[in-house]
Amino acid sequence: MDIQTDRHYAINLNVRGIQPSSTLRINEISNQLRQEGRDIIKLGLGQSPFPVPARVVEALQKHAHEKDYLPVKGLKPLRESIAGYIQRNERSRCSWEDVLIGPGSKELLFILQLAYYGDLLIPRPSWVSYAPQARIIGRSVHWLPTHAENNWQLTADELDIVCRDDPSRPRILILNYPSNPTGCTYADDQLLAIANVARKYKLIVLSDEIYGEVQFDGKHKSIARYYPEGTIISTGLSKWAGAGGWRLGTFIFPPELRPLQDAMAIIASETYTATSAPIQYAAIAAFDGGADMEAYLHQSRRVLKVVGEYLHRRLTEMGAYAQKPEGAFYLFPDFSGFRDALARHDLLTSQALCQALLEDTGVAILPASDFGFVPDHLAARIAFVDFDGSEALNLASGDYADRDLDDGFVKQACPRLVLAMDKMEGWLGKL
Ligand code: PMP
Ligand code: GLU
Repeated sequence: MDIQTDRHYAINLNVRGIQPSSTLRINEISNQLRQEGRDIIKLGLGQSPFPVPARVVEALQKHAHEKDYLPVKGLKPLRESIAGYIQRNERSRCSWEDVLIGPGSKELLFILQLAYYGDLLIPRPSWVSYAPQARIIGRSVHWLPTHAENNWQLTADELDIVCRDDPSRPRILILNYPSNPTGCTYADDQLLAIANVARKYKLIVLSDEIYGEVQFDGKHKSIARYYPEGTIISTGLSKWAGAGGWRLGTFIFPPELRPLQDAMAIIASETYTATSAPIQYAAIAAFDGGADMEAYLHQSRRVLKVVGEYLHRRLTEMGAYAQKPEGAFYLFPDFSGFRDALARHDLLTSQALCQALLEDTGVAILPASDFGFVPDHLAARIAFVDFDGSEALNLASGDYADRDLDDGFVKQACPRLVLAMDKMEGWLGKL
């Protein structure tokens, strides 16, 4: 029986036919297969492998009794702490009133698109959720072209070409760096050039800097330095404080965009009300920083850098082409060198490639089509997170405190990532 006609209800056309978010779906599929006894190497969901820093966990324990609804825009001491964090990191003025707290930056991105009327510009490739969010809301998405030779990065010229046709059209540009899915980041001169084009067309730049603290050289800078009046910075606890499941994100607005911030707060007040109280109290410990937080971040970056470099080398040796990551925990290898061999097995799309890889080897990764590419673009995202982050941090700050991390470290701390590379190499070799 057709349930929909029988019950006399319909699903909103914007949502009909959309699949659940691919990052969460691959995680559920991987967990299901593990429960069925398969040995799955989980490189699908991009979840931080590291534990939440001890002082932040203690702060959560201490504040577990906090039970009151908090102000819609967030707890004032947390907003002050985040303003201080931005002032320290970006050496720019920032007031607590510029800060908006939400239950994950993903939710804030969604209500930003609800509150703002205009087009969404996103470079291809981009994180899996920006475009579906726009589709759910009914906004149009404009994918911006980028090129592999250019690390899949947006250039100021290409942005200009897109805006030139209709210069006064309201638009939000989402810039995410270090990038999910490539791990690449922008240099200062690139940011400055993009900022100049954004100013010329009065774009709003949503600068998704959720991986900023895990840029491997520790020198991440916000484009807000070059375009302060039009940039919203997005960050949160999920990627650099290990706390994805805590669900806390934040947007930092310039005073010029206060009406947009207020409009988002109205939507928040009518939907999620406020972000979880104990989590907000605990987040202060992370944003206040301190020597322990610095040490945690320093070791996290060392580990991610050596792992990223190891995987990059292995992928290159097996015949894939990938950019060397500069931050985050992602690589975006291209397998088009195997196009003919894959075609012999009827594997014509990135989706089919990932499906077959999972079935044959147990390695779970996400196809390029989830990041905005046409189906037959034979690339995929590897989230190199299937290792014990606590052990890796202990080893890096213990035995390896005074020497460079090397292949020996990767083999000891991340054996499942080494195994994943062995399996992929074997699979590609046998095609
Ligand atoms: N932006 C990017 C680029 C991401 O990878 C993610 C994934 N967590 C998010 C935003 C959303 O993060 P959260 O909602 O956990 O703050
Ligand atoms: N951002 C993570 C990823 O790209 C997972 C969490 C999410 O998508 O909400 O894998």
